[in-house]
Amino acid sequence: MEDTYKHKGLRRLLVRELRQKGIRDEAVLAAIGAVPRHFFVEKAFDDLVYTDIALPIDCEQTISQPYTVAYQTLLLNVQPQDKILEIGTGSGYQACILVEMQARVFTIERQQALYEQVGALLDTYFQAYKYRLRVFFRDGAKGLAEYAPFNKIIVTAAASTIPQVLCEQLEIGGILIIPVGDPEGEQVMCRITRLSDTEFKKERFDLFRFVPLLEGIQPLPAPPNHWKK
Ligand code: SAH
Repeated sequence: MEDTYKHKGLRRLLVRELRQKGIRDEAVLAAIGAVPRHFFVEKAFDDLVYTDIALPIDCEQTISQPYTVAYQTLLLNVQPQDKILEIGTGSGYQACILVEMQARVFTIERQQALYEQVGALLDTYFQAYKYRLRVFFRDGAKGLAEYAPFNKIIVTAAASTIPQVLCEQLEIGGILIIPVGDPEGEQVMCRITRLSDTEFKKERFDLFRFVPLLEGIQPLPAPPNHWKK
């Protein structure tokens, strides 16, 4: 796969569209302008990948709409060298946006198939990112205790409540961005700021629709029997 002039041109138009929709943070827009989103979806979606829509990826999951990626990234207030935890690797696109912004990123996925695809994608196209990005196959609802605390945590799946365990993995002054609400309906984008050991501030923003945050892990299915013939 290549990053052609056509793709680069379409990316510039996408950035312009996001700016018109109210995303004014130049660092966020620069990252969206830099990361080739078409590397993260099937070739069949090449004509749609630089329009502002969510697209299907494997395991009945989705790569978030670019506006949503920009919105969450904006709320995260990414600073160079931030240590960020992402729950819900999916395609790996959001994680790469954070790396592009010079953060150090730990991302967790519960679907083994997606976890392995992202590993292969990083090996092929994003070798330089691998110094700043680690991908884990586990249940992200528990966070990543052995690497805590984090400056920032971003959840890219719908939670019915705010997992306390994630709040506890924030450093003082750290922030958690998480869509909270009915996983089958709409969720409110929430920002939790850790003020002290015991105090947290909660702010609410706009409504979004995410795929649900699920429990446990989903290993690859066994190969079908007819492969043995
Ligand atoms: N950030 C992704 C969006 C992926 S959609 C991207 O840029 O493409 C949400 C992802 O969260 C799905 O891949 C889903 O499998 C994953 N997910 C849901 N519950 C999870 C959990 N408990 N732990 C880790 N990942 C989870």
